[in-house]
Amino acid sequence: MSQKRILITGAAGFLGSHLCDRFIAEGFHVIAMDNLITGDIRNIEHLFKLENFEFYHHDVSKYVHIPGDLHYILHFASPASPIDYLKIPIQTLKVSSLGTHNLLGLAKAKNARILVASTSEVYGDPLVHPQTEDYWGNVNPIGPRGVYDEAKRFQEAITMAYHTYHKVETRIVRIFNTYGPRMRLNDGRVLPAFIGQALRGEDLTMFGDGSQTRSFCYVADLVEGIRRLLFCDYAQPVNIGNPSEITIREFGEEILKLTGANQKLISLPLPTDDPKQRRPDITKAREILNWEPTISRAEGLRITFDYFKTLSNEELHKKEHRFS
Ligand code: UDP
Repeated sequence: MSQKRILITGAAGFLGSHLCDRFIAEGFHVIAMDNLITGDIRNIEHLFKLENFEFYHHDVSKYVHIPGDLHYILHFASPASPIDYLKIPIQTLKVSSLGTHNLLGLAKAKNARILVASTSEVYGDPLVHPQTEDYWGNVNPIGPRGVYDEAKRFQEAITMAYHTYHKVETRIVRIFNTYGPRMRLNDGRVLPAFIGQALRGEDLTMFGDGSQTRSFCYVADLVEGIRRLLFCDYAQPVNIGNPSEITIREFGEEILKLTGANQKLISLPLPTDDPKQRRPDITKAREILNWEPTISRAEGLRITFDYFKTLSNEELHKKEHRFS
């Protein structure tokens, strides 16, 4: 059988680059696409020498042209941290709306199966806990997170419409907080923020009183879940995440212990609309995909800390954000 060709958007980002590695390892021809506004080419440069890898520097919000056959599309292009949404709100809206529309059109034209990256943010500040896929969410459309949350909700709507109306083979993964090597040190997310601060000898900036909760999934577990979802025949949204829930205060304490840092946690104001609690109900993923996370937080954090330790001193101290 001829080699299967897969388009991965957001390929130079944290999740996109791990997906490129996984599908290359499985023998696919990987067509990677990224406009590099939040992605980092260094995440995929080790793949450039391979024959079954190609890279398009392109913004998926504009018309997407891929010559030849295409069997699968993974749409993972989008800014994905609250700091990014604040700095580039219009691009955030466009990539999951116009970008998704373009890629659904491409999937239809090529008769390809498309999996789109949705998010636990579709649940907003959830009133149901843990979050099941049939919960419709509690989202503020005009708050600072609205540009991301509503674009992702639109993405789910248009994906289901293409599925129902055009019979495109679609998959929707709702991704909960994920961590691992290649996260951007200064993207404002809690894990790189805390590890960076620990390594620089600074106090850890806990927002609010730290009683808000999150549930962190190691990236390899997430990639396995996505792979299983892509190859199953279930078109409704599926949560993929690690149900092990922790408060941000406890998480900060774990990072201090892991890094051996003797700084303390300091409290800064809680950002607007910061969800108070988040934990995936993964019953569907267990039943439909026979999937559940296998990597404990202790193990995943150790691997991630080892990665951040390899960053140069210059990189570690480059505190300004990309768009500032
Ligand atoms: N957070 C924090 N200190 C930081 C960055 C984030 O206490 O320096 C908190 C943030 O308020 C939120 C949680 O950590 O409650 C997770 O934030 P992140 O931006 O990683 O992801 P999200 O809010 O999208 O889950």
